[in-house]
Amino acid sequence: MRQRCRDGSGRGATLGPAGGAGLARGLAAAVIAPAPVANVPASAPAVVARARTVAIVARSGSCIACGVCVDTCPRDAITLEETAVIDPPLCNGCGLCVNDCSYGALALAEV
Ligand code: SF4
Ligand code: SF4
Repeated sequence: MRQRCRDGSGRGATLGPAGGAGLARGLAAAVIAPAPVANVPASAPAVVARARTVAIVARSGSCIACGVCVDTCPRDAITLEETAVIDPPLCNGCGLCVNDCSYGALALAEV
């Protein structure tokens, strides 16, 4: 069966007796065709680690557990035990606690 193009030229796709079945099969094949795979070298690491800056208790002997840094931290990343304890995944490295510690117990470090 010959179908007319929208421009009326008659230059359209020829559909077989099954109507658009061939076209549908072609579209289905295009849809389920596997996506191209990037050529990644086998030696490439699965995850590229990037350094993060976080606060650390650099001089725990200087910490008097006053709790100022706990109140300062906007991420609730610091808890108090015998000294301040910083949870690195929660820390965004803003440095506020380092600035507020009057005893010089904290520092920023790359991990
Ligand atoms: S502000 Fe300094 S001294 Fe006070 S708890 Fe925090 S780290 Fe320790
Ligand atoms: S550097 Fe900022 S986010 Fe990290 S523990 Fe100190 S105050 Fe909290």
